[in-house]
Amino acid sequence: MSLKTYREKRNFRISPEPQGDPNGGAGNKSGSAPIFVVQKHRATQLHYDFRLEHNGTLLSWAVPKGPSLDPSVKRLAMQVEDHPIEYAQFEGTIPKGEYGGGTVMVWDIGTWTPEQPDVDAALKKGDLKFTLHGKKLRGSWVLVRTRGFGSSSKPTWLLIKHRDKYACEVDITATKPKSALSGKLLAEIAKAHGEDVEEAATGDPAPASGKTKKKTAGKKAAASSR
Ligand code: MN
Repeated sequence: MSLKTYREKRNFRISPEPQGDPNGGAGNKSGSAPIFVVQKHRATQLHYDFRLEHNGTLLSWAVPKGPSLDPSVKRLAMQVEDHPIEYAQFEGTIPKGEYGGGTVMVWDIGTWTPEQPDVDAALKKGDLKFTLHGKKLRGSWVLVRTRGFGSSSKPTWLLIKHRDKYACEVDITATKPKSALSGKLLAEIAKAHGEDVEEAATGDPAPASGKTKKKTAGKKAAASSR
């Protein structure tokens, strides 16, 4: 595990993202349960970053559609560079033009438990089973590698919920859109940091009143064009 790629991609004089302990990667010093975090990230494309603490860093996957509680739904998860442990608490905005520029929300946070005795062997095999103890995500999950193995391209995995009492068909990304840390929506996080509120808001669920307005406006436009 190394943070070399993470640091190479970022300019810490411009980005508020954590640089991480220069001696990091030495393992879980506190001996407490490893953490997991899901960060909702309104970058060029809205996506969810799924991160698992392992050997002193956060293993990271970009999940375009976010996690699904429905075991019949497989969510694409592209493995990206390891992130520093401190990143789990990062909520704010990355300046435009910087790597990952946009608003970041801590959508869910908690601890995780591997369901296999050897996590490194499971990762190498491309089949990692684990239990999440979060505020939104709970129960048993699996990450299965599908492509990119043995090549230089980014490995592609699938994030899938296992069948258990936490599995259901509710679209949790839609029903629980707020930060697990601050209770804020993306637009509220952007506002607090003086950044582009409108752009961040495109990652939030549309308010019911906004939808009505749009429909009315559309009807009026259609009427006037006749
Ligand atoms: Mn991201």
